[in-house]
Amino acid sequence: MHPWIRPARVVLATSALALAGTLTAAQSPLGALAAAGGGAGAMPSPAAAHPSPSVSPAPSVSPAPSLSPSASLSPSASASPSPAPTRNAARAARSAPRRVVPRWVLPMRGSLSSGFGVRWGVLHAGIDLANGSGGGSPVFAASAGTVTAARCTSPDCSHRGSLAMPGYGNMIDIAHAGGVTTRYGHLERMVVRPGQHVVAGSLIGFEGATGNVTGAHLHFEVHVGGSAINPLPFLRAHGLSPH
Ligand SMILES: [Zn+2]
Repeated sequence: MHPWIRPARVVLATSALALAGTLTAAQSPLGALAAAGGGAGAMPSPAAAHPSPSVSPAPSVSPAPSLSPSASLSPSASASPSPAPTRNAARAARSAPRRVVPRWVLPMRGSLSSGFGVRWGVLHAGIDLANGSGGGSPVFAASAGTVTAARCTSPDCSHRGSLAMPGYGNMIDIAHAGGVTTRYGHLERMVVRPGQHVVAGSLIGFEGATGNVTGAHLHFEVHVGGSAINPLPFLRAHGLSPH
């Protein structure tokens, strides 16, 4: 009876899947008992007869639980395949950026000369990029899309503008996916026409000083859903940051 009750407890302990620490703790007293039984059994044979039935099932069972945890080490064996998927995921994550074609680029090489916001009581609805070249720097489509406007928006775009001259001068609008539109103002020259499809980085014109300006620069706007937004956070969200 006793031998059967004890293994039942051990089975419960293993079924509860006690931690390896508790199993080894359970094992160590058994081992200690077995050692004590062996020590006692060495001296008197009748004393050894008593412990032998109670101890003999215990060791016979104790290997079983000790095996079952080692069998339950199969989780750790199932842990060995788990690194493989994570390795694959890491590999996929590493390879993914390589395949990505830049979807947005800075429209001109240069630094930020004026930000988005209210200026002299009027909203400056974009950012100004300049590079000190005095004009003529290539201007690129910031992303793929369709040119929706490419025209002079000031009274005269044939010569340098001024603060007295209203408008964007030579201006290009490009419609992109997702209701996003970009605008490029004060261009000296335009090399695209309305309806033309462009990709990110397509040459669309050259920096100039037409329209309402004090000097040569590119005025760049981003519209989302018809409203001008600050292009800087938008560009940063696409990994771009004019400096
Ligand atoms: Zn501007």
